[in-house]
Amino acid sequence: MLDIQDIRRQFPILERTVADGRPLIYLDNTATSQTPHRVVEAIVSGYEHTKANVHRGVHTLSQEATDLQEHTRRRVAEYIGAASHEEIIFTRGTTEAINLVAASFGASFPRGGEIILTVMEHHANIVPWQLLAARNGLEIKVVDIHDDGSLNLEQYRSLFSPRTVMATFCHVSNVLGTVNPVREMVAYAREQGVPTLVDGAQASPHMRINVQEIGCDFYAFSSHKMYGPTGVGILYGRKELLEQMPPYQGGGEMIGHVQLPSGTTFAEVPFKFEAGTPDFVGIGAFATALDFIEEIGLERIAAHEHELLLYAEQQLTSEIEGLRIFGTTPGKEPVISFLVRDVHPYDIGMLLDRLGVAVRTGHHCAQPLMERLGIPGTVRASFAVYNTRAEVDEFVKALKRVASMF
Ligand SMILES: *Cc1c(COP(=O)(O)O)cnc(C)c1O
Repeated sequence: MLDIQDIRRQFPILERTVADGRPLIYLDNTATSQTPHRVVEAIVSGYEHTKANVHRGVHTLSQEATDLQEHTRRRVAEYIGAASHEEIIFTRGTTEAINLVAASFGASFPRGGEIILTVMEHHANIVPWQLLAARNGLEIKVVDIHDDGSLNLEQYRSLFSPRTVMATFCHVSNVLGTVNPVREMVAYAREQGVPTLVDGAQASPHMRINVQEIGCDFYAFSSHKMYGPTGVGILYGRKELLEQMPPYQGGGEMIGHVQLPSGTTFAEVPFKFEAGTPDFVGIGAFATALDFIEEIGLERIAAHEHELLLYAEQQLTSEIEGLRIFGTTPGKEPVISFLVRDVHPYDIGMLLDRLGVAVRTGHHCAQPLMERLGIPGTVRASFAVYNTRAEVDEFVKALKRVASMF
C-alpha cells in the first residue's frame, strides 16, 4: 500500500485552499500534474548553484550544468528503454517534438503521400501534419473509433496503401483514456515499411514505456505531465533515422562548422536538433521527477490510480442521474470524460470550482473527437498518485449538488 498522506506532503500546492477556504481537490492531472517539492528544489538549486550555459564553457559551472543536462539524457534513455542516449532529443514539450518530426522527417515525403492518424488525436498530433500536408501536397487518412472509445483496428489496417508515408497515433487518449495497442499497430506499419510516431504524453505518467519493445521510430512526451518542470519535452527517435534527417531549427549548438556565404555543417545527433540554449535547469530537474516516480514505483502508482478510477466511475454512475461517460474500454487510464444530461460542461466545471474541485471542461484539444462523438465538449476528471478516495467522495458529492441545480 502507498502512504498517500506522505506523498501528499511532498506537494505543498495540495495544502492550499480555493473558493473561500475550501481545500483544493485537483483533478486536472491530464492537463498537467503537480510538482513535488524536491523537483522545485532541484530547479532552485540549478539557478542558485550551477547556472551556466551548457556545452559552451571550460569553467566549472558550465561543466556542472552540462553534466546535469546530460545526466537527464541518460536517465531518460534508460527510463524508456532506448538503445542509446543519443536517441533522446530535448524539446519544449510533446508539441514541439511532433512538430520537429513533421517538419524534418516529413520534409522528404513525396507529393501525394498519405499520413494515417486517428480521430482521437490531440491537436498536437494533427495540426503539424496538416501544415506539412499543405506544404508538400500530402493527404491525411483518419482512423475511426468504436462506441466504447477503442480504435477501429480493422479500419487502421485497411487505410494503408502503397502511398502511405507515415502512421502516427497516441499511446493513450487524453479524453477517452483508451490505451491503444501500439505494439501491434507499429508492427503492422513496419510490415508495410511505414514509419511510426507514438504520442506518449498520456502514457508516460501512468505506465512503463519501452520504445524498443514498442518498435516505433519516434516517441514523444512531456515532463510537466509526469511531476516534472514545464518547458521540457522528450523526443525519442531511432538513431539511423535521426542521422538522415535535416535539422529542424538553426542556430548555436547544432552546428559543426559555420561559414559564409554557405557550406555550414551540423553537429552529430542529438545536438543537431537542439538549436539554441535549452531549458537546461528544467531538464536537469526532470531527472529528479523520474527519481520521484521510480522511488514509489510506476506499477504502484498505476495500481493506485486504477483503483481510484474504478471507484470514481462506480460512484459517479450510481450517484449521478443522467451521467454519461465517454471512453469505457477495459484497462483505460485514469481519465473520466463525462456529461450530465444536457448540462453544458462549462457550467458544471465553473460550479465545481466554487466547491473546490478543479476539473477540465471543453474539447481538451481534441475537436475532431468531439465532433465524432457529436458533443460540444466534456467535463474531465483525471487522477494522479496523490489523489485519494476521500477526494473522489468529495468530488461526487459536489457534482451531485451541482447536478441538482439544473
Ligand atoms: C498534453 C498532450 C499533448 C501536448 O503536450 P504539450 O506538453 O502541451 O506539448 C499532446 N498529446 C497528448 C495526448 C496530450 O495529452
